[in-house]
Amino acid sequence: MLMCRDLAVIASDYLEGDLPLTQRLSVRTHLMMCRHCRSFIANLRNSIELMKGHSDQRLDDRYARRLDEEIERALASQSKDGSGPDQG
Ligand SMILES: [Zn+2]
Repeated sequence: MLMCRDLAVIASDYLEGDLPLTQRLSVRTHLMMCRHCRSFIANLRNSIELMKGHSDQRLDDRYARRLDEEIERALASQSKDGSGPDQG
């Protein structure tokens, strides 16, 4: 019979799907009976998904705006240099 502390040890493997079928079944059986482990698994799943989300960061809004300003400034200085087309 699986105990709460056993479940805590294999919980991340369970969420990653790395457990053999027999162990998965005992985890599920335990989760059906144990409210504490259900919320533990739910929390763990959330933090794993958060961590995974971090590796795929989106471009920060402020950074994108600064990039726009820098491009505009570069374009403006280029036309001052007269390196662009001749505007008489
Ligand atoms: Zn438990």
